[in-house]
Amino acid sequence: MQITIIGGGIAGLTTALALNKLGFDCKVFERAKQLNTVGAGIWMQPNALKVLDWLGLGELVRESGTLLNQVDITNAQLIPLKKTKQEVVQDEKGNKIVAIHRATLQKILFEAIPQGIVNLGCEFKSLEQNENQVKISFGDREIMSHLLIGADGINSKVRGDIFSNTSKRFSGQTCWRGISDIRLPNEFQNAGIESWGKRIRFGFSQITESQVYWFAVKNAPQNGTDNKNTIKAELKNDFKSFSPLVSNIIELTKADKIIRNDILDLKRLEKWHKSKVVLVGDAAHATTPNMGQGAGQAMEDAYYLANILARNNQIEQAISLFESARREKADYVVNNSWRFGQMAHSGFGQIIMKTIMKLTPDKVMNQQMNKLYSIQEKF
Ligand SMILES: Cc1cc2nc3c(=O)[nH]c(=O)nc-3n(C[C@H](O)[C@H](O)[C@H](O)COP(=O)(O)OP(=O)(O)OC[C@H]3O[C@@H](n4cnc5c(N)ncnc54)[C@H](O)[C@@H]3O)c2cc1C
Repeated sequence: MQITIIGGGIAGLTTALALNKLGFDCKVFERAKQLNTVGAGIWMQPNALKVLDWLGLGELVRESGTLLNQVDITNAQLIPLKKTKQEVVQDEKGNKIVAIHRATLQKILFEAIPQGIVNLGCEFKSLEQNENQVKISFGDREIMSHLLIGADGINSKVRGDIFSNTSKRFSGQTCWRGISDIRLPNEFQNAGIESWGKRIRFGFSQITESQVYWFAVKNAPQNGTDNKNTIKAELKNDFKSFSPLVSNIIELTKADKIIRNDILDLKRLEKWHKSKVVLVGDAAHATTPNMGQGAGQAMEDAYYLANILARNNQIEQAISLFESARREKADYVVNNSWRFGQMAHSGFGQIIMKTIMKLTPDKVMNQQMNKLYSIQEKF
């Protein structure tokens, strides 16, 4: 069976690794001419680490990033609203969250894939399905495939070709991300921090010994742009009531590397598949980043899809089973992440969230996190 993956982001590369591990013949087509070396950091949670362990890459990812022993939501002075217990940021086997540079993660995934599988500089243009195969066009050439996997992100062209009316939701918030050349004070060395002010948030964690990944979120009109000469001063002004550490982190960042993204998600799709085409990752269920689970969910897709395909040679049945296996958790992440973001940016919402955090017993919190961190072990 020939399998084609469109998109060489986290979802596409992890899917190629999973399929390759189980002996499938697959090819990835990515429109970028080179592997992405920009980007900020990313927090990989225990469910993602489980998939990476299964692929034999978990240790390399852990060594290349920073293990987080705690993740705290704090006030603007970095005082935790409620101190998290270790169990909340690790699974029952002790897997912790890893904070890593996104480009480092992409490189690890890319280099683990045997040569010849990933084709860079190939932009997917259109598809046509017949009874047995999918004809895939890249403009200058066409290929036939038994299964097409759309891993081409939130603006998926594959999705647009199989479903006519899908739409994105803008949360009203915009996020700035950067990498700062700073070493945090000892108390924050292995911590993930998200601090809340009035309708603004600032988060950070060490990703290497000398680099800190940070994100800043505030309400802003969609499609805004930045002036690289003033962006640092503007952000420092926005966060001037926060701990001086926040200002230092922003100051020690290269302004031209600060990334600005509107925070969006994908309105729930009725289905993730049609005939012999299936969507994975952000193409299927892009989420707001508030739970730090988008890439983790993409990795789970890769793991489930490959394992289910390995046990069902009827493609359409297999991709339908894949969706059934993944739907509930992906929906849970998208919905809760959206709610979290809306509450965190409303005065009343923050009061409710703080009360819930204080009143929720640690045991209940652990149960919820363990559910999120668990993946099916046997198929
Ligand atoms: C601000 C922010 C912070 C985040 N933080 C976290 C976090 O801490 N933890 C976490 O787990 N997740 C996080 N996420 C989510 C995570 O980044 C995404 O869920 C994840 O990258 C999705 O991967 P993907 O491969 O599905 O999509 P993408 O990363 O968008 O990759 C899609 C790929 O497809 C390619 N492509 C697109 N169109 C075509 C075409 N026509 N032909 C060929 N190739 C094409 C693109 O070039 C790209 O390489 C965050 C997201 C944001 C916005």
